[in-house]
Amino acid sequence: MKFIPNTHIADISPYQAGKPMEEVKRELNIDSVIKLASNENPLGCSPLAAKAAAERLSCMNRYPEASAFELTHALADKYKVRTENIVHGNGSDDIISLLAHGFLNPGDEAVMPEPSFLMYEIGVKTAKGTPVKVPLKDYAMDLEAMLKQVGPRTKMLFITNPFNPTGTVVYRNDFMEFCKKLPENILIIVDEAYIEFARDSEIYDSLAEPLQDPRIVTLRTFSKAYGLAGFRVGYAIMDEQIAEILHKIRQPFNVNSLAQAAGAAALKDEDFLQQTLSVTHSGIDFFSREFGQMGLEHLPSQANFIMVNMNQDSTRIFQGMLEKGVIVRSMKSYGFDTFLRITIGTKEENERCVSVLKGILNREKTK
Ligand SMILES: *Cc1c(COP(=O)(O)O)cnc(C)c1O
Repeated sequence: MKFIPNTHIADISPYQAGKPMEEVKRELNIDSVIKLASNENPLGCSPLAAKAAAERLSCMNRYPEASAFELTHALADKYKVRTENIVHGNGSDDIISLLAHGFLNPGDEAVMPEPSFLMYEIGVKTAKGTPVKVPLKDYAMDLEAMLKQVGPRTKMLFITNPFNPTGTVVYRNDFMEFCKKLPENILIIVDEAYIEFARDSEIYDSLAEPLQDPRIVTLRTFSKAYGLAGFRVGYAIMDEQIAEILHKIRQPFNVNSLAQAAGAAALKDEDFLQQTLSVTHSGIDFFSREFGQMGLEHLPSQANFIMVNMNQDSTRIFQGMLEKGVIVRSMKSYGFDTFLRITIGTKEENERCVSVLKGILNREKTK
């Protein structure tokens, strides 16, 4: 190519999003497709959020408020922090990138689990940092091993809790011990994209007592439990001095007006959140029971998805399910070649998913 990209981005592999429903409908020429691939909320979004966004449509000729006033005040109220501790983002993906650009000099290291959410690596590499990857142990983050990778160039460390794609968690006591052993100058980025779904009371929750440790940056999102993935709105809570740096480098209008209004309203819709949790929890229980009866190994999940072992190349099963209009995720690209990750859907979607899966497995048996 005539135009040579920066060398530090040369080996970045592009983010692979879940297959869009419309694309599958077009390709297979079928009407009824369900998507259980991207950990989205199966109930849609909060009616209060939809209404707030719709009301905002009449002033879309205006720029959004750069400070996201209503949204950040609602968050400050909820978590008993000051708005100075909050950074809003175009999804939490945006904030991951801001952290990397704000705190990594070329060659600085960011310790992260392997496999992990691809945006950590993309954020770190575009900021000319170096990802240092630490393999999971028993499908969970290996804090001891991560600690061993912390060196003089380490600037930040990523914790995902609950973990995507396995649904495992970091426990409060383990996390506290871990922090004690970490140097003072390292940002501990705790990505809690799925924490609303967790039922295990021993899980570490960084916002139970926010801002106790100035190194901790909490990432949260409206994309999952609040059902606003399409709006793109996330936030982070952190020490004021860290927040100042991120505000300096973020785009002034990084959360659009509709998303600001939807986010603020969604926070107040406790009914919708409770409904979401209830559907998700009964869905997790349903899949666990069904997989148990089918003799399939599955991981106990504290998130809104579940990983199941097909004991064979899972992309084949993925493809078979796709042909029946059920989109799930093969975990091959995550290094779990025989696993699928299934996002919890509505009761009907979950049942259809299991029945399609059973059909495929039975067909294989009788071959
Ligand atoms: C979905 C997800 C996010 C949230 O992404 P948004 O940009 O807020 O939509 C963050 N971290 C992990 C691990 C996720 O799976």
